[in-house]
Formats: sequence, structure tokens, C-alpha cells
Amino acid sequence: MNRLEIQQRDKSALRQGYSAAVRKFEIASIAAYAVTMSWLAIVLMPRMQAKPFLAVSALMLGFVAADFVSGFVHWAADTWGTADWPVLGKALIRPFREHHVDQKEITRHDFIETNGNNCFISIPPTVVAALLPGEGAVWMFAQAMMFAMCLAIFGTNQFHKWAHTDRPPRAVTFLQRAGLILPPDHHAVHHSAPYAKYYCITVGWLNEALYRLRFFQTLEKVIGAATGLIPREDDIGKRAALVVAEQPPPPLPSLPDLPRLPMELPNLPIDLPDVGGPSGQLKTE
Ligand SMILES: [Zn+2]
Ligand SMILES: [Zn+2]
Repeated sequence: MNRLEIQQRDKSALRQGYSAAVRKFEIASIAAYAVTMSWLAIVLMPRMQAKPFLAVSALMLGFVAADFVSGFVHWAADTWGTADWPVLGKALIRPFREHHVDQKEITRHDFIETNGNNCFISIPPTVVAALLPGEGAVWMFAQAMMFAMCLAIFGTNQFHKWAHTDRPPRAVTFLQRAGLILPPDHHAVHHSAPYAKYYCITVGWLNEALYRLRFFQTLEKVIGAATGLIPREDDIGKRAALVVAEQPPPPLPSLPDLPRLPMELPNLPIDLPDVGGPSGQLKTE
């Protein structure tokens, strides 16, 4: 990837961007998230008890949805905008730039720095979910799914941090090997320059499918054509970003090989009834 001439931002300048104001923003986000999630849990629990099987399927779907949301937010923050923007840039985009420059920095983040951002983005969906009407299986399903999704989003940065930790706790290693939280070797695919695939960081189940379906690549082409922006220009420099934008798409997924019929059919004798006359010709009246 040297030919790309990737130019990343200065590591120490990015670290200095973690100001006291950003820290306060993170603390407020965690506190607000705790309040809104507790509210949603209190509203939801009696409704789930009435339809437990439906509730369990909604919770599982919410976990998968969190993997997608983690990929979408990660892609958006990696690809567009700049850490120089006043609020969004400093609080949400800067950590993603920093993570590509120094992927071990996340392992030095405390609880607040690890979880503040994800709590912030989860507050609006939890409020909306808590306000949904109480009657009906569909509303309960939506609420339970949203609850599981926001809970898994809360876990996402911790799972991501563990994927970069040299010696995580034993139980964490077990979950990583079982593929129930983001495995380190799977996530390493994202960390090879130009950082343009495998964005999902809750568990990574959707990464290969989104990559082969060219999901983010197509979005980048549409947004680039509409706005004139160059995807990931701020992350890897304009020259490298232009080269990456022109790269061919990945191969589409193919169906598994089906068993083939033998090319030549065996030459078996076929015993057909004789419908002709003595000379083998059809009789005519
Ligand atoms: Zn990234
Ligand atoms: Zn990472």
C-alpha cells in the first residue's frame, strides 16, 4: 500500500483534541443514556413477559442491528468530515482518525472515553422507543429490538477495545473465539490501509456480506457524485483517497458449487416397444 502514499494526521495533535469540554460531553452522554435506558427497561419488561418468545427474537434481531449500526457509524466517521469541525469533529470524528494512526490508543482509554460517544448516539432511539404505544405485538417487538440494539451499541466500543487488547480476560477470549463479540483477527482486516472495509465492530457478522454486496462502496459513489466530496480524504490524504475511490469493486458473492451432472450419459440399451411393421416401418391404412 506504499504506492498509495497515505498521509495521516499527526498523532499528538489528535490526542490533544481530547479536551475537557469533550470529556464533559461524554460524562453527560453516559448519564443521560443510563436514565433513558432505565426508563425504556421499566416500560418494556411487563410487555415482554406477555410475549416472551417474540421478545427473545426481537432481542436477537436487535443485536444484529447493532452490528449494522456500528458499521454504518464507523464508515461515516472514517469516510467523511474532519476532526477540525467544532463539535461533531472533535467529539465523534477525532477518535476514528486517532484509531487509524495508533490502534493501541483505545486500550488506554478509561470507561468514560471508551463509552461516551456510543451512549450519545443511543439516547435519541431509546427515547423514541420508550414513547412508543404500549398495545400490540408489533410495538413491543420494535421496543425490545431497540432496547437490545442500544445495549449492544453500548457494548460495542468495549468489544472493540478488547479486540485490540493483548491479554483480555479469559471469558472475553472465549466469547471472541465463539464469534459472539468482535474477534481480533477478523477486526485486523479493517486495520490494513486504506481502512476501507470491515467496518462493523460489535461482532462483525455482517462485514463480509456488506463488503461483497459493495454496500459502502456504492454509498460512497452516490454521495461523491452528489456532493463532489472525496471519500476518506481527511483520513489518508487526497492522493491516496483518489486512488482508493477508483479501485475495482470486490467480487460479488457466488452461489456454492452445486453437484454437476456427468458430461457424458452412460450408453445403456433402451428397450422400446416395436410400433412398426415387419420391415420396421409404420403401418399406414
Ligand atoms: Zn476505521
Ligand atoms: Zn480497531
